[in-house]
Amino acid sequence: MTNLPVGLREHLAREVPFSTLSLRHEAVAADGTVKALLQTADGRPLEAVLMRYRDGRRSLCLSSQSGCPLTCTFCATGSMRFARNLTAAEIVDQALHFRRTERVDHCVFMGMGEPMLNLDAVLSACERLPDLGISHRHTAISTVGWIPGIERLTECDMPLRLALSLHAAEDALRSELMPVNERYPLTEVLDACRRHYERKRRRIFVEYVMLAHINDRYEQALALARLLDPSVYKVNLIPYNPTDSPYRGSSRQAIATFRAVLEQHGLATTVRLTRGREIDAACGQLAARAA
Ligand code: SAH
Repeated sequence: MTNLPVGLREHLAREVPFSTLSLRHEAVAADGTVKALLQTADGRPLEAVLMRYRDGRRSLCLSSQSGCPLTCTFCATGSMRFARNLTAAEIVDQALHFRRTERVDHCVFMGMGEPMLNLDAVLSACERLPDLGISHRHTAISTVGWIPGIERLTECDMPLRLALSLHAAEDALRSELMPVNERYPLTEVLDACRRHYERKRRRIFVEYVMLAHINDRYEQALALARLLDPSVYKVNLIPYNPTDSPYRGSSRQAIATFRAVLEQHGLATTVRLTRGREIDAACGQLAARAA
């Protein structure tokens, strides 16, 4: 913009900032995953990740909050201090950070925070994502099962995908892993999901993080298979990424057996590819260590 007078350029930089976020650190993993540690103007840390897949897909994992007020026991974000909700501009600016250098086409709200606790800003960011190349159908919002948020998404006209972090098929264990389950217990969450499916006719993705000897036993796979209607849900088993928590990830064999049980019961099941683990960019590792 050297065709503008210096004074005007300085004025514009002050009054109309290029981005609401500044970059503090960026790391690239061997698999091509890029993690950006960003900071808001008031110094709050957040992270956003770009995942590059061999089929050409470029998927963004965005944060909805700096930190997270929920305290899921296995998640690193839950152990850092909650700062605040991000604004719609701060969410879109995460996507723009990567879009400036590379085409992007998918997005998941699976970074820091609980999107349903900041749904106004998340939905307003979603309205703008198609301008960056990310359609609503290629956007997924992941929740711990915050029922009022699920209901709002059901009423919303954008065809966004709902993803549910389930992690256990019975209340006692789920409450241990995810204290929010005390507030919104399993059957009520699944009822809200069914209503969502009936209105939207789009299958819901269930995320299930595989914790050794905690939720990965054969009977637990059976219980999960009985709980989930295959016409409503698809299951994504997530290999656990190490954090400072006492949990260990399930073995490959345990994950394969668990998957086989679900598939025998007709549930479409995938095992998530773990991306960017060595740069702490994988799910649940987004704790902004530099915070
Ligand atoms: N709060 C929302 C959005 C965050 S999504 C939600 O929980 O759905 C982050 C996903 O990664 C969730 O499914 C979460 O349970 C999972 N996760 C958290 N810690 C993890 C870890 N250490 N390894 C693998 N997955 C993890």
